[in-house]
Amino acid sequence: MTVYLVGAGPGDPKLLTLRACEVLSRADVVVHDRLVDHRVLALAPAQAPRHDVGKRPGEPVRQREINDLLVSLARAHERVVRLKGGDPYVFGRGGEEALVLKEAGISFEVVPGVSSVNGALAYAGIPPTHRGIAASVTVVTGHAVGEGDVAGDSDAAVDAKSGTAVDWQALAKLGGTIVVLMGVAQRGAIARRLISGGLPPATPVAVVENGTLPGQRSVRTRLDRLGDVPLSTPAIIVIGRVAELDLDWFESRPLFGWRVVVTRAADQASALSARLSEEGAIPIEVPTIEIVPPSDGGAALRAAAGRLAEFDWIAFASANAVVRLFEEVKDARALGANKVAAIGRATAARLAERGVVADLVPDVAVAEDLAASFGPAPAGGASVLVPQAASAREALSSSLRELGYSVECVEAYRTVHPARQEAAAARVRGADAVTFASSSTVEGYLATLGRELVPPVVVSIGPVTSRTAVEHGVSVSVEAATASVDALVEALSAYAAAHPKPAAP
Ligand code: SAH
Repeated sequence: MTVYLVGAGPGDPKLLTLRACEVLSRADVVVHDRLVDHRVLALAPAQAPRHDVGKRPGEPVRQREINDLLVSLARAHERVVRLKGGDPYVFGRGGEEALVLKEAGISFEVVPGVSSVNGALAYAGIPPTHRGIAASVTVVTGHAVGEGDVAGDSDAAVDAKSGTAVDWQALAKLGGTIVVLMGVAQRGAIARRLISGGLPPATPVAVVENGTLPGQRSVRTRLDRLGDVPLSTPAIIVIGRVAELDLDWFESRPLFGWRVVVTRAADQASALSARLSEEGAIPIEVPTIEIVPPSDGGAALRAAAGRLAEFDWIAFASANAVVRLFEEVKDARALGANKVAAIGRATAARLAERGVVADLVPDVAVAEDLAASFGPAPAGGASVLVPQAASAREALSSSLRELGYSVECVEAYRTVHPARQEAAAARVRGADAVTFASSSTVEGYLATLGRELVPPVVVSIGPVTSRTAVEHGVSVSVEAATASVDALVEALSAYAAAHPKPAAP
């Protein structure tokens, strides 16, 4: 029985420490705050119960209940993970929980996290200390600063929750950077106290809302105007000359704040989503196609898999075809007698994962180019097995036949469209852009969500997909230069650089 007091970081799940990932992956039970990201919680084993002990506005503080819960869970389980936003010991009441555990004789470990003090400032482009500008940082709570007569006798406002004082008058004279957490509600009073303590009204101030998250917003102002800035929580307030620095790298990303619908099949969406996130977008994954066995249940594919040695070549026209064939053969040595062609890099990568290096990958990932890269069939002829989607175009097989190959197509899978889900419809409403990585995703999107839910900006992976979109009355805003995830993201980034983000409907 050990309780891990773990810092979950300020928001961006990528800021989790390796140790936090490790203890989460072995957790028997997780106790977490309200703001902890679902992607962080997903790192715990699926069967580990989650207790959300987040305090909701208006609810009485239940720290005692949380303490009791930790003690009783620790007595029943080997590994209890207590996840807290930011760092557990920075205004996180982690110290109180550790004390309770210590008194109860329960062993504990503290896994520090990136505090919003570091995280939000780094992502907003503000170094808290800077040579020649600020030589100290004071981190304070803005709770219960105490409204009323700021020039009155109560210079040291008492934090009602902890009973400790923040001496704003002294703080105003300290110099350096002041970072205020939990200060949104009292920002006007905080500013007035610091000004009455001697800080110039024009002192630079920055406020960072939703720091490190795709919805981050940072606002620069001055101390005497802080009270008038509209803000929502969570937000952190930075007071001092460093707030004038603007080393932004995050909010200026090409797709920052763009909500982009990713329409690939669920198991293929993650690579595209990850690339979009890196450019600052908020990916919204909506599977519009599902890969299912062909109508014969895979019998034809199984039969072909049993006689692979009869073919000179296997031509894979999609990554799904690789996945499906290997479900039948299981062992890469089954392809020992074959030459192997892949339509594009993603398909070649799936082969490589299975220990097979493609002999042929065309520069442009379309069926016609794949066929052309084979060149004319050798004198004695050659045979090609093409495992493909039930709905695949004839282009590959007919082009290969024209080149003199004998071609056997076998249905490896079918793409079907999931039934319309209201939850998915709600998620795509208000999106700025949609990415279509194949014709079937266009058809799937229209079948499951309808044309009225197509976002203002449409990105297509190439000419074939664009044609399908146009045939269905969907105009394409921008097309990828080559058929790859990277090119798709580059095309959208270039579009975003030249056009404003569409206004939410
Ligand atoms: N232990 C946490 C702080 C808990 S107090 C940490 O180390 O960050 C909660 C306060 O932290 C909020 O009121 C806000 O001031 C700040 N905060 C937490 N997450 C934030 C975020 N993503 N952006 C800006 N401020 C944040």
